[in-house]
Amino acid sequence: VSEADDAAVPLGLLPWQRPVWQRVAHVATSGRLAHALLISGPRGTGKRQFARVLTAALFCRSRDAEGLPCGRCADCRQLAAGVHPGLATASPEEGKSVIAVEAVRGLCERLSMTSHDGRAKVAVLDPADALNLSGVNALLKTVEEPPARSHVLLISERPMELRATLRSRCQQLRLPIPPRAQARQWLAQRRLPADGASAAGLPVAEGAVDAALDAANGAPLLAWELLRDGGVELQRGWSRLLGECAGGRGDPIEAAAAIGEEQAGPFLRWLFVFVLQCLRVPGARAEAAAPLRELSRFAEELVEQMRRLQANARPQLVLEALLIRSRGMLALQLQSQDNP
Ligand SMILES: [Zn+2]
Repeated sequence: VSEADDAAVPLGLLPWQRPVWQRVAHVATSGRLAHALLISGPRGTGKRQFARVLTAALFCRSRDAEGLPCGRCADCRQLAAGVHPGLATASPEEGKSVIAVEAVRGLCERLSMTSHDGRAKVAVLDPADALNLSGVNALLKTVEEPPARSHVLLISERPMELRATLRSRCQQLRLPIPPRAQARQWLAQRRLPADGASAAGLPVAEGAVDAALDAANGAPLLAWELLRDGGVELQRGWSRLLGECAGGRGDPIEAAAAIGEEQAGPFLRWLFVFVLQCLRVPGARAEAAAPLRELSRFAEELVEQMRRLQANARPQLVLEALLIRSRGMLALQLQSQDNP
């Protein structure tokens, strides 16, 4: 099962993880970190990333003032390249749902071997709720009598499914769903993969950020995955429908139905951002573009329709009204966006 935590996000602490980090950093850097840690939290909160930063901090030779790894020393580089001799991981094999007991035994053996320079050793079990009874039993001895400078990191979305004998021996670190404003800010700074229109990537439309966070129950990495994999397609679909209506080729009533009542809010916010962007680049095809005054009037109407939607107007009618109104308005900008 792939997890959103693995989305391509640069390695480092995520903003909402800072309070949890501050709780472990000072004990980690003074060598007093618990031997077994259970890193839990809902899907998309960055458990795996947190475990990577913590692992790096345990190995790193020049941590910063916050106890964070430098990313440049030999240990950090080995870890980034996936070849650090002090790290062992166990996960279910491809197509399996349980971590094989042999893998757990191998992990414990590696932890018990004395490292040649007395440095830290880390074992990661991911996800730890994929341990069966034999796996837990194989791990218990190591957790109860940990070899010097060894740490076992258990990653789990469902910590309560872990056997109590194991769970009770772990220090628990729970990663939270961040406040909406923090999640929104983090997503707003990200760029969607470029699709030819812009090499630097595309900013996420404000409405799409909220829609994705709603769909992800507030978990930022999951929201990011939705935006990256589905959002671009969704917005491309909207852009095509709008282009057809604006160009007079599409039927606004059918297009409104295709967008769907549930997506009316996100669509309106996306359209608003799009219109504002058109207003900001008047130089582009100015000779053919809809007059700017018309566009700003359309933007005002959009705001009015957003208000109607909030006041419980029927979404379908709001969408239809806007799509009818868009005729002749945005066709050229949409064409130039599709064919850069
Ligand atoms: Zn380092």
